Amino acid sequence: MSVLQVQDPEVFQAIQKEVERQNNGLELIASENFVSRAVLEAMGSPLTNKYAEGLPGKRYYGGCEYVDVVEELARERARKLFRCEWVNVQPHSGAQANAAVYLATLKPGDTFLGLNLAHGGHLTHGSPVNFSGMLYQAEYYGVEKEGPLAGRIDMDKVRDKARKIRPKLISIGASAYPRDFDYKAFREIADEVGALLWMDMAHTAGLIAAGVLNDPLPYAHIVTTTTHKTLRGPRGGMILIGRDFDNPFGITAPKSGRIKKMSELLDSAVFPGTQGGPLMHVIAAKAVAFGEALKPEFKTYAEQIVRNAKAMAEAFLERGYHLVSGGTDNHLILIDLRNKGLTGKEAETLLGEAGITVNKNMVPYDDKSPFVTSGIRIGTPAMTTRGFKEEEFRQVVDWIDQVLMHPGDEALRRRIRQEVEALCRQFPLYDFVVA
Ligand code: PLP
Repeated sequence: MSVLQVQDPEVFQAIQKEVERQNNGLELIASENFVSRAVLEAMGSPLTNKYAEGLPGKRYYGGCEYVDVVEELARERARKLFRCEWVNVQPHSGAQANAAVYLATLKPGDTFLGLNLAHGGHLTHGSPVNFSGMLYQAEYYGVEKEGPLAGRIDMDKVRDKARKIRPKLISIGASAYPRDFDYKAFREIADEVGALLWMDMAHTAGLIAAGVLNDPLPYAHIVTTTTHKTLRGPRGGMILIGRDFDNPFGITAPKSGRIKKMSELLDSAVFPGTQGGPLMHVIAAKAVAFGEALKPEFKTYAEQIVRNAKAMAEAFLERGYHLVSGGTDNHLILIDLRNKGLTGKEAETLLGEAGITVNKNMVPYDDKSPFVTSGIRIGTPAMTTRGFKEEEFRQVVDWIDQVLMHPGDEALRRRIRQEVEALCRQFPLYDFVVA
């Protein structure tokens, strides 16, 4: 029996139930994944006890000799993984990494340009309910409503917008964009208008590390990411600089007023700018996950994620579903359900009853609120980790279609749930009791 079970049965029970839920259901949330046992172990280690403000070799606390080793390993592996020169592995989350970018590069009231949240962008890319939209002047580019670029970004329109508003910072990156980005074109626009270019690769970092998608690091001045999505590490964030160390616009440090290297500005923006002590147990788990991602098997995994997403896209198209942009280049598809007479909210609930977890999502030019939405977002990273290939994903599409086409049929959802559980048993995930 575990120590936790004896000491705190209520928390233990809830954790067990969640492990069961993960084991028995189809996890299709595009931002989620399943970490390895080694990553879990590092996260649950006594490194959680250690304060280590500062950076390896330059800490504000004693006793950091071993956590220094861990953080150096995480940094070295991240640099290798993304073929880059500099990294900070301390951000507690993707939002924290992004907060540090704003703090380092903009003054309150400055203008930046990012992808509209309603067209796939993230809250931290200038949403009015997020600090990024409250403290700074957020302007947006979007995706096309119709024509040959429907659902995709028209770079000519991004250029026109940038020329008009002259942003100090241009951000790329998304939470619900099924296509790849043209980083070279973005950099040309940034250079033309005198803006810094920042890529938030939170969703696609694992695919970029594996070389399955275009690489932003040669073009973006700054790159941020989460570590827990396609990268398959612990929940957390990270900031990278590619091959471009310049601080081309002479940005000064907020306190001293001195012009500093971009890496120094970002380090200070993480700590003490926006965080206190780093989470050393999470940094240890990041090091383990980056080590896993450096192995050849990870490239095979990333390639399979995309193959699976394309197989799903094809199967949905065959059944008359409308996919935003008509398909996918990456790990996710975005389905516009308006031609099927269902809202995203209804679809999410119906599928949940059948053991299939997806999330409702706004589609571009949506006429419904974010609580209702016209779409659902579906991702392949988590079930690909469990070993699903194209055949299993085609089966999943069949189940989703049956559930959505017969919303009144509760017995069907119960039957599919049993079939889902039977398939999940063939692809075991966590076979242990926690702690
Ligand atoms: N950036 C993008 C593009 C994301 O999709 C997300 C999370 O979904 C984040 C940032 C924020 O990450 P976190 O939830 O770790 O703060």
